[in-house]
Amino acid sequence: MFDSKLIKKLDRIDTPFYYYDLELLRDTLSEVKQESDKYNYKVHYALKANANDRILRMMNEYGFGADCVSGYEVRRALEKGFDPRKIVFAGVGKADWEIELGIEAGIAAFNVESIPELEIIDEIAGKKRKIANVALRLNPNVNANTHHYITTGLEENKFGINQWDLEKVVDVLLKLNNVRFIGLHFHIGSQIMNLEAFKDLCLRVNSLQEWFVSKRLFPKVLNLGGGLGVDYENPEKNPVPDFKKFFALFDEILELKPGQEVHFELGRSMVAQSGTLISKVLYVKEGVHTKFAIIDAGMSDLIRPALYQAYHKVENLSSDLPEEKYDVVGPICESSDSFGKAINLPKTGRGDIIAIRSAGAYGEVMASRYNLRRLPLAYYSDDDLF
Ligand SMILES: *Cc1c(COP(=O)(O)O)cnc(C)c1O
Repeated sequence: MFDSKLIKKLDRIDTPFYYYDLELLRDTLSEVKQESDKYNYKVHYALKANANDRILRMMNEYGFGADCVSGYEVRRALEKGFDPRKIVFAGVGKADWEIELGIEAGIAAFNVESIPELEIIDEIAGKKRKIANVALRLNPNVNANTHHYITTGLEENKFGINQWDLEKVVDVLLKLNNVRFIGLHFHIGSQIMNLEAFKDLCLRVNSLQEWFVSKRLFPKVLNLGGGLGVDYENPEKNPVPDFKKFFALFDEILELKPGQEVHFELGRSMVAQSGTLISKVLYVKEGVHTKFAIIDAGMSDLIRPALYQAYHKVENLSSDLPEEKYDVVGPICESSDSFGKAINLPKTGRGDIIAIRSAGAYGEVMASRYNLRRLPLAYYSDDDLF
């Protein structure tokens, strides 16, 4: 990804910033499109992974829909030209204005996470004399075996409608006049590397949908959510996740009924590998066990390591000297502001360019102004600069 010509160009830009490889992004999206089209599956891109204009425009060009988790994201998707009939809206805490916005826009579905939410959507739709499409987000109690902060499909999590509420939700649904039941929605977690979890999900979906059909509620749409992981350890070796295997698994195990549609909401797997956080070394300081490489990017630019103990591969693009061990840390006044402990890097000095890889998802979009820092800028491989 980073040849010496590119490194020279990156070197001239004020750090820290995000660099997006649009060629890799196009390769990734083509792969998603090709593999999902095989089965006529519909993919909605999860905006929360990265909502940059350029990236959203590309998602739209490829024909993907938008998976939103706030009214602000619904608004952004509409502004960027997504067809409202390809916008879905999930989230446990939708405010009234967000529900109104979705109804006014005529979005494809509210993914409803609780009985009280279902009743409020019905009430608001009624006042507007409209019918709102709803899919029920069910908590399938499937363990995605991922970090507990990004697991969402267990009964202890706040997401979705739990097993014990199913009878009640059907009773409520059958009484309401301003909502139309269109299907079932699931999302069990993120950064899932072991496809067994998706297999378990499919089996749960097979039996849950039978139950709904027995209650005379036909789920026209089965939305399996997102969650496919990426190889953070080897971004060079595995730049594009194995979408072929991913979609084939659903084709193999899901038991579809005539007329049913299968939807996905992928975020991370579509954008993570195409983004890199570029930073420079400010100081190298001796520590007790290792040296500290203090860089100018911090948790305000990329919070994943601090928030979820997430691993990102760190590379020194400027040096090819023999390796030494470094704690790579940011400038922010928090001990968790660290990108890696005792990692091997070629001998590192002030001014060296540091690349923090696989940062295209949940990176820039989570940036904050903590310590009153500026938000990181973004550059794209097809900018004139490159
Ligand atoms: C975050 C989220 C996604 C996308 O998850 P990834 O792990 O990034 O693929 C999909 N659906 C819902 C409801 C989400 O909250």
